[in-house]
Amino acid sequence: MSSYVSDLLAEVKAKNPAEPEFHQAVEEVAESLSLVFEKHPEYRAAKVLERIIEPERVITFRVPWVDEQGEVNINRGFRIEMNSAIGPYKGGLRFHPSVNLGILKFLAFEQVFKNSLTTLPMGGGKGGSDFDPKGKSDLKIMRFCQAFMGELFRHIGPNTDVPAGDIGVGGREIGYLFGQYKKLRNEFTGVLTGKGLNWGGSLIRPEATGYGAVYFAAEMLGTKNETLEGKVCLVSGSGNVAQYTVEKILSLGGKVVTLSDSNGYIYDEEGINTEKLHFVMELKNVRRGRMKEYVAKYKNAVYTEINPKDDFNQLWNHKAQCAFPSATQNEINGKDAQNLLKNGVYVVSEGANMPTTIDGVKLFLDKKILYGPGKAANAGGVAVSGLEMTQNSMRLPWTREEVDERLRMIMKDIHTTCMTMADRFGTPGNYVNGANIGGFLKVADAMMDQGVV
Ligand code: NAP
Repeated sequence: MSSYVSDLLAEVKAKNPAEPEFHQAVEEVAESLSLVFEKHPEYRAAKVLERIIEPERVITFRVPWVDEQGEVNINRGFRIEMNSAIGPYKGGLRFHPSVNLGILKFLAFEQVFKNSLTTLPMGGGKGGSDFDPKGKSDLKIMRFCQAFMGELFRHIGPNTDVPAGDIGVGGREIGYLFGQYKKLRNEFTGVLTGKGLNWGGSLIRPEATGYGAVYFAAEMLGTKNETLEGKVCLVSGSGNVAQYTVEKILSLGGKVVTLSDSNGYIYDEEGINTEKLHFVMELKNVRRGRMKEYVAKYKNAVYTEINPKDDFNQLWNHKAQCAFPSATQNEINGKDAQNLLKNGVYVVSEGANMPTTIDGVKLFLDKKILYGPGKAANAGGVAVSGLEMTQNSMRLPWTREEVDERLRMIMKDIHTTCMTMADRFGTPGNYVNGANIGGFLKVADAMMDQGVV
């Protein structure tokens, strides 16, 4: 680690204590950018990275709401408006009990680079709440969403800040949030993305992150003249990203053998085919059940409960060629990375944000496997959110084929940017450096143009 990076990190840790995920995200980006600063000291002199690390604005607020039993509940709401150099703040909302300031700052920081990579004019932001939607009635979810938007509406707008979904925030929650925004503002605008199709949403938005992560894997494999046809794939999670990752892998001829939730995972050696995927979609999106139920229906599959005492995740310990982590941050640690490599995995395309710890990433880079970091590989979701904003501005919906084709081209362009930047800065094949540098340069140049603001 260069002295520049270690000094910067020491300052970030001192100023932002108890935010380990944020420190981790900054460390990874700063390491890559030290290659840029050697050639371009002007960015360092203007303290561009130091400015990007400091959010433009952080909003925290009380979310009080009354449930159907008349009980008063209090949650904490957040919105991190990280960087608006190249467009309105843009990034998802996460509802999960683990949500805190550090997690949302890491996500907002990553989002700045990711959004820049998409080539669309979007700044970076992220928000959410420590509210846990799991097992709650629709009425509770609606009341919470309305209370949350009761404060958030003051801070967002179609040209200011455009939130979307993330963990725990899908179509249902976006609907309740949008309804409340519309009521409070008395205007119908594209202030959220991930909307329903008949009220301003875009075709392919639900599919976009998962499809994009698979397109990115296909691009990486293409550099070796290979395809996904016949490849065995490990997928974690069973939510939005995981479901559409499986759908696209199947359509490209791959075989998926795992899925998970926070209680455990299933291993289906015969492969999760389209019929089984539809079962999972109904289980998770309609009945809101647990993955465990999969093995009651498909008897040859095996369910393994997560053992909190394990220092590794069994899901990553199966023979395969490709892995698509699609659940949450730091779900692949150093030991998991070793297991993946030992089992023959040589393609990792991250649907989740920062799912691999720093020691895991180092192992993947040392072994020179095809490793697509989240900020490149999962940028398809926000890219189609950007396309949803365009369609809202034009008041014209595009067809499924048109949006899918644009998504495919954007993922191809992101892949090319990563390859080109990695080459230009002397680390060919290193998609981490390529993504960090490619994402940074556009934002940095805009910040230089706009002065110290
Ligand atoms: P989701 O629909 O809420 O699904 C999340 C899945 O991950 C669920 O299966 C959940 O299991 C599991 N999970 C969550 N926290 C976990 C934990 N601590 N340990 C184990 N499993 C956990 O969310 P999503 O939209 O698919 O998001 C998944 C990942 O993709 C996140 O990292 C998110 O930031 C990233 N991402 C999402 C988008 C998007 O467009 N949605 C875009 C870019 C990146 P339970 O049901 O048990 O909680």
